Amino acid sequence: MKFATFADRAGTIDAEPADLEIVAHVRELLADAGDEIEIVARFAQGRVFPAWDSTTLDIGPSACYEAIARAAGTNVSSNDVEERLAEVGEIGDVAARYDFGGQQGLGAFTGGGTDDSGAGGGTGGNGTGGDLTVREVAETLADLAAAEGSGSHDRKVDLLFGLFNRCSSEEARYLARLVLSEMRIGVGEGTVRDAIAAAFDVPKERVERALQVSNDYGRVARIARDEGVDGLDAMELDVGRPVQAMLAQAGTVTDALEEWETAGVEWKYDGARVQLHYDPGDGETRVFSRNMEDVTDALPEVVEFADERLESPVILDGEVVAIDEDGSPLPFQEVLKRFRRKHDVAKAREDVSVRPVFFDCLHAGGEDLLEEPLTTRHDRLRSVLVDAVDETGSDAAAIDDEDIEGLSLLWRTDDPDEIESIDADALEAGHEGIMLKNPESTYSPGRRGKHWRKRKPDVETLDCVVTGAEWGEGRRATFLGTFELSVRAGEDLETVGKVATGITDEKLEELTDLLEPHIEAEEGQEVDLEPAVVFEVGYEEIQSSPTYSSGYALRFPRFQAVRPDKEPANADSIERLERLQGQ
Ligand code: AMP
Repeated sequence: MKFATFADRAGTIDAEPADLEIVAHVRELLADAGDEIEIVARFAQGRVFPAWDSTTLDIGPSACYEAIARAAGTNVSSNDVEERLAEVGEIGDVAARYDFGGQQGLGAFTGGGTDDSGAGGGTGGNGTGGDLTVREVAETLADLAAAEGSGSHDRKVDLLFGLFNRCSSEEARYLARLVLSEMRIGVGEGTVRDAIAAAFDVPKERVERALQVSNDYGRVARIARDEGVDGLDAMELDVGRPVQAMLAQAGTVTDALEEWETAGVEWKYDGARVQLHYDPGDGETRVFSRNMEDVTDALPEVVEFADERLESPVILDGEVVAIDEDGSPLPFQEVLKRFRRKHDVAKAREDVSVRPVFFDCLHAGGEDLLEEPLTTRHDRLRSVLVDAVDETGSDAAAIDDEDIEGLSLLWRTDDPDEIESIDADALEAGHEGIMLKNPESTYSPGRRGKHWRKRKPDVETLDCVVTGAEWGEGRRATFLGTFELSVRAGEDLETVGKVATGITDEKLEELTDLLEPHIEAEEGQEVDLEPAVVFEVGYEEIQSSPTYSSGYALRFPRFQAVRPDKEPANADSIERLERLQGQ
């Protein structure tokens, strides 16, 4: 397809406000794209490379202005281009206002042009363009992206100049937008999906699935056209090509248990998402970020982990966490110091080391697992990771999950108290909290669905008086824990719940010192406390309940802080509970 044809169609789409009509135009564009369908499908979305490919043109706006200025004639400078841009506000409009063509020079050749390219030659070239194909544009941009090292800036500008020099106004408009990632003609991912389905008469869901596994709109368009639905269904994950990460919504334990009955519960690690692709066959280990950027070189620990512990091709999804010398997690900011680092990685590694924790397995044993339920995928993950532990040939099933390095534990439970204690352990171990996952759910790349929920931070908090507590057990026997919370009811205090979670051992010790002087009575493990200390607590919900004397119960109360600035007389009242419950 000629680039002029593409530009013409892009112009029509650009001018079309109605989504359905846009899909119809893209459908025609794809149907007419011939051999260049892959490129056309990408260009329409403003992409030069497939979505899985993190290659960038690595060219700044100023280099693009320079190329435009050179192609526009000797009397035009980059500054002129910038000034016009300031007036017009959009690079496509700027490029379309110049007359290109006929500028001679190295770039005209390297860009694939000839002496007489650009119709006419000479500074008066009328820029009718017309001979450039979308393939030439794609190939030249690939060369431009590949230019590295000293002299690469000039080479990039030369190549781009060569292209602009052969453009008509409309071609220049869309070339400039493509190069600067500003295509913006209203063609999103859903548009291309629908257009592929309509153009080649294949069901949308099958196109969607093929897109999820391949992350390549061009390839999916070609296969839909040439091989139909069977071809699409035969598309599989490729080890080495990233998949979009499944995302989580905020949510509550209450909702999770209501919807799924049994919830999958995992620790939420405060790190950065990584997708590990390991293939011993081609000796390649690649690590990708949440945005599918290749971050392999920045994270040698993950590569070493794969080399030491994996044996067959796999795709694993997980989190990379920064750790201190004894392996305890460090805050997210520390991971960032490592994550996209290109230079001095060894030095950075000395300062902050990282370790991967995997919570999902998308491909193993030659099989794609996206459509398997979470529990099956987690079992596969376990067996992939256990192999390395099980060198002695002992019974792999007998190995404790906690002893499998790199495995994020998955609990299945319908018991809110167990979820609370998993949450408390996660916090105590220095992690962010918990993730709740539907154990039956498939892996939906790129989706922020309901099947994965990060536990919502508490929006409201209550200031409650601590009126009782219990001595702990085992290693916590000398600490007070499980604190009874009360709110004001006129001159009295009425109970509203108990809080035991969100408190580390260190904090428990501090709270015990603070509360012990206020013990009024003890019976077994239980103590009554004189009202003196106020806790700020978070919760998921306020329920009417006969369990506590206030007539209300806090669902999933969590300790936030002591309020040394508050007396019991300033604690929250039953009236506030009533108001909050009504909200
Ligand atoms: P957020 O970044 O707050 O939207 O939370 C979702 C992110 O939590 C995911 O993209 C992961 O990077 C991270 N995460 C940490 N632990 C887990 C886990 N066990 N399962 C899924 N995601 C996790």
